[in-house]
Amino acid sequence: MKQHLVTISVDDGHPTDLRTRDLLEKYGLKATFYVPARNPERPVMSVSELRSLATRFEIGGHTLNHTPLKNLPKRKAWAEIYDGKKWLDDLLGLPTVSFCYPRGKFNALTAALVEEAGFLGARTCFFNLNSFPKNPFYWGVSTHASSHTSFIQLRHALLEGNLAGAVNYFGMFRASHDWEIHFGHALDYVAERGGIAHLYLHSWEMEAFQHWGKLESLLKRMASDARFRSVTNGELYKHYKEHDLTSPSCSHPPGDAR
Ligand SMILES: [Zn+2]
Repeated sequence: MKQHLVTISVDDGHPTDLRTRDLLEKYGLKATFYVPARNPERPVMSVSELRSLATRFEIGGHTLNHTPLKNLPKRKAWAEIYDGKKWLDDLLGLPTVSFCYPRGKFNALTAALVEEAGFLGARTCFFNLNSFPKNPFYWGVSTHASSHTSFIQLRHALLEGNLAGAVNYFGMFRASHDWEIHFGHALDYVAERGGIAHLYLHSWEMEAFQHWGKLESLLKRMASDARFRSVTNGELYKHYKEHDLTSPSCSHPPGDAR
């Protein structure tokens, strides 16, 4: 059975995430908000706002201080990953299963530490991907909700070793610059052939560029096409863990209680 999945990740816990939350609620879509305890670059929502967000949406780990992990000594990277998880687990009273690498920076050691800390999967900044990854700690997205030139897309993909993303960018994504059109190609592809259309956004970018209208039109489309099933990132990671995804007979949709 083909699965036509849509998922959304919202990074950084900026106070404008509450506007994104309102839009998601309006369209009945699920999402995962990756929230650090602190971010030296931008404000983070209050603890009470975070608790209230968690009653309806998944909250994922994004380290304690929004620190890029790739070049940190192991002990410091562990503290950022583990203490960030513990902070959320204690605050929300449930185990945090999803992780996202700050600025998309990680290496094999970082990925191993994230797994050891008890997360089930981790989202990267590998773009232009619409399928289940080979490793759940290398989870890619279809579209970053920010318009990039072809040069940036290609350079980013090559620097990250994301060759499939580079090929897809010119194929299924038609080298689109505008992120609304770019994600539209992901939705077209997944509606038709199955897979995962994954939109990754920063609410502060929606605010800075006044892209709320673009976001809303995509959410509307995701909600109105009956072929799509909306899942959290965590439901995808759990699904990955529970099923042999290489098997074509796997037909349990993620997010099903079982
Ligand atoms: Zn971030």
